Amino acid sequence: MSIDPGTITVPDLWKGAHRDDRTRPRSRQRLLGPSSIGLCRRRAAYEVHGAWPTDLDDNMHAAILGTWLHEGILRVLAEQYGAHTELELTNGVILGHADVYWAPGGAAPGVVEDVKTKSTRALDVVVRQGPSQHEWFQVHLYAHLLRTGGLTDHPHLPTGKPLPVDAVRLRYVGREYGQVVVHQRMYDEDVTRQALAWAEDVLESAEPEAMPRDLDGPGLSIICDNCPFKTACWNIDEISDDRAPQSILAEDAVGVTDALRAYADAAEVESAAKKRKAKARKTLDAADPGTYGAFKLSWSGGNPRPPEPDPAAMIRVLEGLSLDIPMKPGGRSSRTIGVTRVPEAT
Ligand code: SF4
Repeated sequence: MSIDPGTITVPDLWKGAHRDDRTRPRSRQRLLGPSSIGLCRRRAAYEVHGAWPTDLDDNMHAAILGTWLHEGILRVLAEQYGAHTELELTNGVILGHADVYWAPGGAAPGVVEDVKTKSTRALDVVVRQGPSQHEWFQVHLYAHLLRTGGLTDHPHLPTGKPLPVDAVRLRYVGREYGQVVVHQRMYDEDVTRQALAWAEDVLESAEPEAMPRDLDGPGLSIICDNCPFKTACWNIDEISDDRAPQSILAEDAVGVTDALRAYADAAEVESAAKKRKAKARKTLDAADPGTYGAFKLSWSGGNPRPPEPDPAAMIRVLEGLSLDIPMKPGGRSSRTIGVTRVPEAT
């Protein structure tokens, strides 16, 4: 049989993967998930109020790859080290799935662990800044639910009974190269209290719109860029293309004044910081690369560049030959904002 290989149908991996992802039960939960607590109150409120996502776009490849990787990691921890994995936990208003529970044994304490897969860039942020507050909230809430008998339906562990948790752990795994970064600390009741207070605020909200947008919005926050409620939150359907979504925050004089104050304050801080940075840069001009105290100095660039076309000389040549200079549409210049403080009346 002679078949042209180019004619053999290839099933579309990503179409199938997106269909598969949409059937996952956690995408549609109405109870508050620990992973949403501490991130953005409005987003958490959309979940609690059962709002249907407006932005389930099909460009979620990284998240799906993360899910697949995550499943493999949990399987290895369970099969190779005897960890208990994927524990459903609830107290009736919070519902979550803890990744890993390490039961205490001998000198080893009880530990609950969350595994997070990250891009190299996001992992770098964790290395430099440590886990975010909402990630610590998340593992503390898992610990709290385990400690208070929140485990439901598990093949090996007793359900509905308090389980000992002494420490919480965040294990980050790089999606590209498999780098592992671990942060762990002893369980802290205060962190749980803060997380529960945050959750209560959301649970008591009358509607999602009553909750503040805690993040800066599309184009400024990667969490907003990937938020399933982005369009509803920022009325993106109703604003014209050339307006930033954030402009809905300045639709009256009070909003404009607030934004001007924020702009002027930030510009002053930025200007002072730029001056300090410029002086420090010049001071370091002759310093050798190396580690100095808590800092590492390295240099890059400074190499000769190859010659490049000289547009001014080309124009002169064409004009000298009396030829028309080729033109393309100029578009618009970018708008420049001017913000100054009005002197106070004396
Ligand atoms: S778009 Fe951003 S501010 Fe709005 S709900 Fe989502 S995360 Fe919160």
